[in-house]
Amino acid sequence: SSPHGPRSIVVLGSTGSIGTQALDLVRANPDRFRVVGLTAGGGNPELFEQQVAEFRPVVHGLGEDASCEAAGLACDVVLNAITGAVGLRPTLTALDAGNTLALANKESLIIGGPLVLERAKPGQIVPVDSEHSAIAQCLRGGSPAEVRRLVLTASGGPFRGRTRAELADVTPEQALDHPNFSMGPVITINSATLVNKGLEVIEAHLLFGVPFDRIDVVVHPQQMIHSMVEFHDGSTIAQASWPSMLIPIALGLAWPDRVPDAGPGCDWSKASSWDFFPLDDEAFPAVSLARRAGESGGTAPAVYNAANEVCVDAFRRGRLAFTDIVPTVAAVLAEHAVPSKQRLSVEDVLDADGWARSAADRRIEGAS
Ligand code: NAD
Ligand code: MG
Repeated sequence: SSPHGPRSIVVLGSTGSIGTQALDLVRANPDRFRVVGLTAGGGNPELFEQQVAEFRPVVHGLGEDASCEAAGLACDVVLNAITGAVGLRPTLTALDAGNTLALANKESLIIGGPLVLERAKPGQIVPVDSEHSAIAQCLRGGSPAEVRRLVLTASGGPFRGRTRAELADVTPEQALDHPNFSMGPVITINSATLVNKGLEVIEAHLLFGVPFDRIDVVVHPQQMIHSMVEFHDGSTIAQASWPSMLIPIALGLAWPDRVPDAGPGCDWSKASSWDFFPLDDEAFPAVSLARRAGESGGTAPAVYNAANEVCVDAFRRGRLAFTDIVPTVAAVLAEHAVPSKQRLSVEDVLDADGWARSAADRRIEGAS
């Protein structure tokens, strides 16, 4: 346990997949963590009430405003485990309050981009996304100047190995059936289209300051290696563990410390093999599209993310084909004029987000 007593933790999005796993870790480590704030979106009020009764946080509430209030509370760590662009204001509030931000809500960093980075002190954002947690761990193996490239691993999703033509009649049920992780619905569909990996390439660029041409993606179906860093001497350091978010969440809450027994380790007593495949860009164009959006910068990543959220929703409601998700996002991006001004405001980002949602809606309605 810590010599300074337990760390005070705010969990935003406490009823979700990441949020509930974070609370499991708190429950298992009462000497390390103490919950002082809880917020959620209101989709599961019974669970939220149970959590409030169990953890008795100082601040709790539903929705964006409650999340901002909790994020601004003086505490050790704010875990942002909200899904989607609505996580942006809470992210900015946590940073402005000087709190360490354990960031699962990658969307806020990706859409906010420089807006988020300029408010963050070095080390203030600790990634919870498993790939970025892996990279942060691997980066301990050398100096920043020694880094040659980042290598993000991708499960390839449930449709790995299929051609574009073979993806046309994929149903939401099939896409929601992720092989390894149990996650919220948006990120599960995003794993199937590889939009999630596209978002993660942008996230890696922003978190670690590595240019896009030095961030690679490799398909690794077993999801035992969570990402790697290649150093300039030719050495690659990889982080491996059983596929589970518990280790990255625990590191997010305890960084730079590790939480003993946070998750299951590898089992070397049984034979196993780990495969690696190059990404099929034709069947899964989401990653190259994200690179282009990331290179454009400005509000382009926000448009990529927002248009995709609308497409995912339409796909889940049977109104858009699986193979039309990424082309629709691409069409909305092509229509979007990236503002030429240097400094974006929160309003610019949220305006672009709103514009992209309507533009995607129009295209989906026009097609059906
Ligand atoms: P989820 O859908 O299971 O949970 C989302 C949570 O956010 C819920 O508690 C919901 O009530 C809450 N929420 C929604 N709107 C809100 C609002 N306005 N104010 C406060 N809370 C609100 O999602 P998840 O799978 O836990 O993912 C959360 C984030 O973590 C996402 O950004 C996702 O990309 C990222 N992430 C998840 C995983 C995973 O394994 N689940 C892995 C890596 C990254
Ligand atoms: Mg990830």
